Amino acid sequence: MAAKPKKKKSGNRKPARSKAKRAKPAKPGKAARPARAAGTDPQRVAAILAKLDEAYPQASCELNHKNAFELLIATILSAQCTDVRVNQVTQALFKKYPDAKAFAYANPGELEQEIRPTGFFRNKTKSVMGASKGIIENFRGEVPRTMEEILTLPGVARKTANVVLGTAYGISSGIVVDTHVQRIANRLDLTRNEDPKKIEQDLMQLIPKDKWILFSHQIIWHGRRVCQARKPKCVECNLELLCYAKDKTI
Ligand code: SF4
Repeated sequence: MAAKPKKKKSGNRKPARSKAKRAKPAKPGKAARPARAAGTDPQRVAAILAKLDEAYPQASCELNHKNAFELLIATILSAQCTDVRVNQVTQALFKKYPDAKAFAYANPGELEQEIRPTGFFRNKTKSVMGASKGIIENFRGEVPRTMEEILTLPGVARKTANVVLGTAYGISSGIVVDTHVQRIANRLDLTRNEDPKKIEQDLMQLIPKDKWILFSHQIIWHGRRVCQARKPKCVECNLELLCYAKDKTI
């Protein structure tokens, strides 16, 4: 017996909803912000990178150091502190403690007082001494050159690791996400995340790997000089036409 043909379903079913989010209409006087992070547009990313190259061709790390170890210590000290203050402190510090061995076996009470001006000095002392011991005991006195190894050092997270690997060794292992990068990546709509690890992943997808080191320095410079947290100097910003941050000052 021939099978009955199946009935076609029909009726008053609602049409399927489109998954694409619609952009909210822009408020009068404000530029529209696309629903997706516009940073996913390669042309826009390329334009941002070109503008950064134009403004900060020589951007580099502003922490004074003579080698990877000194940069590691300076970067640990720079948490919640300005580079200017850290440089003042490390000038004397690196004379008194010239290498990892000297820091590892320092008198903790003395070291605390010496790094006190950088803030959070008790925790920083533990990190500095712990990282120094780790370097001596596990890496023959040399700051390791891989992300995996450097992250085993006490007090060293991805931000510090990226600074040291990128600046001291020229190794592109990721993008430094500090407070400036966190803020500006959002203002430029290169990410819509707040968590530094997720921001770094977003940026690593968007920025060519050979630009990771310079891009980190350029954004940090831009944050210090122009795109400041409370009152960005948008009139002076060469990225202004590419930026539709809500807190733009023009
Ligand atoms: S236009 Fe303003 S908010 Fe946008 S990147 Fe420039 S300084 Fe920052």
